[in-house]
Amino acid sequence: MTAFTVAIRIDLVTLFPAMADGFLQESVIGKAIDKGLIAFKAHDLRAYSKDKHRKVDDMPYGGGPGMLMTCQPLFDAVDALATPDCEVVYLCPDGEQLTNKLAKELAQKSHLILISGHYEGIDQRFRDKKVTREVSIGDYVLTNGTLPACVLVDCLGRQIPGVLGEENSLTGDSYNGKLLAFPQFTRPAVYDGLEVPPVLLGGNHAEIEKWRRERQIEKTKQRRPDLMKDQEPQP
Ligand code: SAM
Repeated sequence: MTAFTVAIRIDLVTLFPAMADGFLQESVIGKAIDKGLIAFKAHDLRAYSKDKHRKVDDMPYGGGPGMLMTCQPLFDAVDALATPDCEVVYLCPDGEQLTNKLAKELAQKSHLILISGHYEGIDQRFRDKKVTREVSIGDYVLTNGTLPACVLVDCLGRQIPGVLGEENSLTGDSYNGKLLAFPQFTRPAVYDGLEVPPVLLGGNHAEIEKWRRERQIEKTKQRRPDLMKDQEPQP
């Protein structure tokens, strides 16, 4: 196998390492991990607990339902894994929204430590002292942060040069600029009476570009006019 230089190291601290390993061993990101472009490792938080039963949670001060993840295993895990330039990212519903722009920014880092919460979340003192960035994958609440962490790894991983087969694959993506992606078609040209737009079959690249851009504008105006509000793109 060809040796690649590691582009980014990512450590995930979670109660469910197998969940992340299963997700991230597949497809494009799985290949990037195999090739060594992304050095990914999921760590079991319980391995850092000093409790004789490997407990990592306790009741919240002030009362309320559910349990909170305690400081000790989290502080010890981050202290053991940290490097001088690492960014410690807590996945949480009240963090800044994950966007392609944020993923690109995080893809430039040399080392990320991702923290996945569970139960009602984690002790605020850990967030204040060790977390350098808080990221949400959307305005909804999941049971734990492992899938959000995998979503982040997938999203930033495809921004790393060499991870996607063709670097051009990124340029037509939604959220890469101010427009959503254009509609795409593949063979056959007619399927069950459904035809591919004739312009795509003609081989006139200028016409194809023009058609695609018009469709992008049309779709963006309809679905996400907010993306276009700073600057109206010209056809
Ligand atoms: N009580 C917390 C709140 O309302 O903000 C929710 C805790 S949630 C049940 C448990 C864990 O799932 C969180 O600590 C976080 O790591 C993860 N999580 C849930 N939804 C998420 C989201 N939308 N984005 C990122 N992480 C999320």
